[in-house]
Amino acid sequence: MISFDQFKCNLEAVRKRIVRAAQLSGRNPESIRLLPVTKTHGPEVLEYVKRIGMDRVGENRVQETMEKQGVEWRKKLHWDLIGHLQSNKAKHAVECFDRIQSVDSLALIQKLDRLAGDRGMVLPVLLQFNTGHDPAKSGFEPEDADMAVEACLRYDALKLEGLMTIAPLVEDPDAARRAFAGLRLLRERLMRTFGIALPELSMGMTSDMETAIEEGSTCLRIGTALFGDRTGGAHHVG
Ligand SMILES: *Cc1c(COP(=O)(O)O)cnc(C)c1O
Repeated sequence: MISFDQFKCNLEAVRKRIVRAAQLSGRNPESIRLLPVTKTHGPEVLEYVKRIGMDRVGENRVQETMEKQGVEWRKKLHWDLIGHLQSNKAKHAVECFDRIQSVDSLALIQKLDRLAGDRGMVLPVLLQFNTGHDPAKSGFEPEDADMAVEACLRYDALKLEGLMTIAPLVEDPDAARRAFAGLRLLRERLMRTFGIALPELSMGMTSDMETAIEEGSTCLRIGTALFGDRTGGAHHVG
């Protein structure tokens, strides 16, 4: 289990990486948000995030999130779902997440709209794209983007805020760059085609955050570099 001081130290190191990469690509570091990914870690890391003055976390499973939240934590933080959502968990997801980044099918769009509408709320969402063409990853294919955006715009209870992708897990360092650049270009095209704003470009994890910043990421989803290995072992990764 990581200590608060270790977390603080890791956070400093991550922030330095963000600032350096932003400067190198002529971007304002303030335009890049860091989303701490707390999945698989104990509830103490939620405490750390709160204590350091951050207010958002990313989780990838509905069940785990419900267990962590309880009544107390639900409202203390803003929760982003970043993992694939099964249709039968959608109802709970709408109850415990403030935004769903991993919207990856038309059926899910339709279901989330209905569930959010039933609760009288507007649910912020991102569309997940498989711009890395990784068979192991979910997400829309870029060819289906117009259809997915049209569907989101048709439904009143969804607020489309942007796009998300996960780089393919391969050795080739250019694969991540291609996936990120693909998402950036897709966003630009969709904004033109539909005349809408898509402010959020969620891309970049511990191993590829610099590349993601260079390609325009506005939301880095970082777990390991902040909280250490999820499989146990070394925790100090700054
Ligand atoms: C776990 C996870 C992350 C964080 O990955 P790290 O490599 O630990 O930073 C980011 N995005 C998604 C979708 C994840 O599932």
